Amino acid sequence: MLVISVLCFLVLFAIAAYFFRFFPWTRREWEALPTKAEYIAEHGSTEEVACCKCGSTNTFDFGGLNPGMTNRKVLCTKCKTALWRESY
Ligand SMILES: [Zn+2]
Repeated sequence: MLVISVLCFLVLFAIAAYFFRFFPWTRREWEALPTKAEYIAEHGSTEEVACCKCGSTNTFDFGGLNPGMTNRKVLCTKCKTALWRESY
């Protein structure tokens, strides 16, 4: 009984991990963001790239619920606006 419970847990965990990794709508949202070059071309080029909403130059990248996600969104630290996409 214990083996069956562990197997059920592992199967459910694998299914959940798959969906968190490959959510199709997450990928579409990521693809809708501009690349960094497109963002700079659209919002003007300065020494430091600033947020188009609040002007902050502080950013952080976010990969969703999976920290190992290679498709990253770069967000403004101050207002959390998604600025551009990156891929490692
Ligand atoms: Zn901002």
